[in-house]
Amino acid sequence: MIGSSARTYKAHGIVLRARNLGEADRIFTLFTDERGKVHAVGKGVRRPKSQLAGRLEFVAEVGLGMHRGRTLDVITSADRVARPWTRIVDPAAFATAHLMAELIDAFCEPDLPLPDVYALLRGAIRALAVADEPARLVPRFELRLLGALGVGPQCGACVHCDDPLAAAAAWADVEAGGLACAGCRPHAADALALEPHDVANFRGLAAVRGDAVTPVLQATAAATRAVDGFLTWHLGRRPKASLLLADFAAG
Ligand SMILES: [Zn+2]
Repeated sequence: MIGSSARTYKAHGIVLRARNLGEADRIFTLFTDERGKVHAVGKGVRRPKSQLAGRLEFVAEVGLGMHRGRTLDVITSADRVARPWTRIVDPAAFATAHLMAELIDAFCEPDLPLPDVYALLRGAIRALAVADEPARLVPRFELRLLGALGVGPQCGACVHCDDPLAAAAAWADVEAGGLACAGCRPHAADALALEPHDVANFRGLAAVRGDAVTPVLQATAAATRAVDGFLTWHLGRRPKASLLLADFAAG
């Protein structure tokens, strides 16, 4: 009998990474809308005749049939919803996708549903697949990810004194969790200064539809460095994929 029980469930997911297990299986790390990050086994997926073969590619968006296992869930079916890699040969798109997947994987605990993060990732993967310069999507993605995780930097008003930052220079204070005004600026030698147009850009990068600030898609150089500072502080390290991405940006 086919039916739904507590042990089977359906989900929509995006493939973050996979590694081989045994002779024919793979363990997939998926980010799902219903349950957040999930590790699951694709049994026999490396056999050519597998029903799952070719459907669980990196950052593919899939409808999943799942069975709850004792330690790992098992993928029983996968239907492709969207496959971004019509331009699979574009290394910058690939590197950008790797960075996005790495950050979602690093920041999100298993079995913690984060529907806003899922929507953000799904939209970002779809956007990068058609972008001329995929790497330019990264700062907005990173800032919105921090926002969706509840740790987005305060950028409308000084993080220390709450004075509005409109039309003024500001400094990125990563430890305080936001931008600081001239009176409250951090005095570290490497404190990152933002000109007024960079502050406006930073606020636009963080904005979502419906906000008072109009969303912007592309970051200024200083705003990019500020986003990078906040992200690195929360992650506790530089993202591994950012090195790969820097290579493409330079070349
Ligand atoms: Zn202040």
